[in-house]
Amino acid sequence: MSRAFAMSPTSIAVVPRELPLLRVIAPPAERDKEPLVDGQPQTDEGKLVLTEELAAEIRCEALRLESAEPQQILQWATERFGQKFTMATAFGPEGMVLIHMLAEIAPDTPIFNLDTGYQFKETLELREEVKRRYGIAVEMKQPETTVEQYEQQHGGPLYRTNPDQCCFDRKVQVLNKAVLGKHAWASAIRRDQSPDRANVPIVGWDKKFSLVKVSPLANWTKQQVWGFITQHEIPYNPLHDQGYASIGCWPCTRSVMLGEDERAGRWSGFAKTECGLHSQ
Ligand code: SF4
Repeated sequence: MSRAFAMSPTSIAVVPRELPLLRVIAPPAERDKEPLVDGQPQTDEGKLVLTEELAAEIRCEALRLESAEPQQILQWATERFGQKFTMATAFGPEGMVLIHMLAEIAPDTPIFNLDTGYQFKETLELREEVKRRYGIAVEMKQPETTVEQYEQQHGGPLYRTNPDQCCFDRKVQVLNKAVLGKHAWASAIRRDQSPDRANVPIVGWDKKFSLVKVSPLANWTKQQVWGFITQHEIPYNPLHDQGYASIGCWPCTRSVMLGEDERAGRWSGFAKTECGLHSQ
């Protein structure tokens, strides 16, 4: 149950006490229909099926929420999908903003981290800070092999020669398992981060993982993210203060120079720009 939002019988999202300037979103006529959450068909593998009804709902909500505030989008998603709504986080600044918002709106939302074995110690420490600050225990989801076993299997670190395969094995496959039985997931991506992300909808169908994908920060800028972090004193990865704009695994992340794209420090030297979680 939301801590910061009061429920209204006639609206999905109402003005939160802390953010009095938020718009109230009027519910579309179809809101009165039965929720999909329990009745939504799934395949034998526990994956959600994209029915015509679900596709229509996604289109409708994407339009309706296009100019909504992230808190309103999260409130819709958490009410709509309940415990079948989840979030993966690498504890980046956008992820920290969403964790902060979820802590107020629906703190029991399951949140997990793809623990590749190659994360910075600063990233792992942030998990503990999230627990202290918000009481949220982010679940660590590991691949089947340890780093040592994986590197032994491949005759050395695969990130040096085939980062696509490494990301697939240590991130995509892990996420695939982590979201079994879920119906929707939150992503922290922003449209202005890269050309690959420029057209991400607020609500869309993620065909790779068979999930409704909700991107509450799609319309936000980097400045808005950091402004919100400062305003609410949200903890963040200290590596950002050392020039790391986007932080993934340590072997595939470097700090960026002035004027460089914020994701230029990821897989530097490779044509790769995404780990595969957000590309269809
Ligand atoms: Fe492997 Fe690098 Fe991908 Fe991490 S970011 S899973 S180390 S290739």
